[in-house]
Amino acid sequence: MPGSWVGGGHLTRSLEGRPVAEALIAAARAAVEAGVARGRPRPGLASVHRGAQTPFAVYLRQQSRAAERVGIAFRTVPLREGAAAPELKATVRALDADPAVHAVLVEHPLPAALDFLGAVGALRPEKDVDGVGAENLGRLVARHPIHAPAVARAALAIADHYRIPLGRRVAVVGRSETVGLPLALLLLDRSRERDATVTVAHSRTPDLGAALAGCEVVFSCAGAPGLLTRTVVPEGAAVIDIGLSTRPDPQRPGGIRISGDADAASLDGWASALTPVPGGVGPVTVARLMANAVAGWERLTGGPE
Ligand code: NAP
Repeated sequence: MPGSWVGGGHLTRSLEGRPVAEALIAAARAAVEAGVARGRPRPGLASVHRGAQTPFAVYLRQQSRAAERVGIAFRTVPLREGAAAPELKATVRALDADPAVHAVLVEHPLPAALDFLGAVGALRPEKDVDGVGAENLGRLVARHPIHAPAVARAALAIADHYRIPLGRRVAVVGRSETVGLPLALLLLDRSRERDATVTVAHSRTPDLGAALAGCEVVFSCAGAPGLLTRTVVPEGAAVIDIGLSTRPDPQRPGGIRISGDADAASLDGWASALTPVPGGVGPVTVARLMANAVAGWERLTGGPE
């Protein structure tokens, strides 16, 4: 496994997302092949977005490639420029009624005026593939979601794949309804694999280092590059970096630099493990989204094989 020794400290394992993503893609593809062979229609995933110029465009290309590998019919649904909340909601409602579409993803974050929660609220929970609508989030609190957010499940899939124990003190940095909060709820799951004792930190946490003290695993979803250094992360903790921030960089392919929340140079030799950005949680989120789409398709077409 890749990693490095620095000054007699820790071997910081690099928790690569690719093997985790490949396993999810292979399982989803097998489920689709089995279902289609027994006469089910091919699964359909629709991704509603504001256009190719948004940061979501990279994610759309990744979705398209993954869907093709799994055997999902993938459709992008661009919103008309200047579209307002009622048009977004009507678009989502039409996809909810379309029998060829089994899963719908709505780009987020969106400007508040577009009423993201109102739009995903127009979906039945089986089609709310990212589990961010009020019904799925409510079901998550009640411990029986139909879908839970792909990014939160992806972060947990990485921890599980690399056998990072979670039944201990764990921190989540970030409390958004779509990432941090669902992740904290999933970590609190009553099971021998989870049962974490969870600290949730946010932008108003007065002393992040004090809040994280004693935590053995840190999940970060703040979208604040460089936030996690060895002055705030406890020595030896495993860090799962969900943050994705972009800034223009003409030196990079595509002209953008992607950063996580972790300062990898500072944590090298200090943390016991760290997910790279890019190449960590990101590819697993796309694969988990496909797995969610296939699970929703199975429910809508008569249950799992
Ligand atoms: P968000 O709605 O902006 O929420 C960010 C959260 O982080 C908020 O709770 C905020 O606190 C907290 N926060 C911000 N700065 C902080 C700081 N300096 N210290 C401590 N907490 C801080 O963002 P989001 O939608 O949850 O997404 C979070 C990150 O995950 C983003 O970078 C996003 O791009 C990334 N993401 C990655 C994937 C993936 O596949 N890897 C998927 C989805 C999202 P307050 O509540 O006090 O404002």
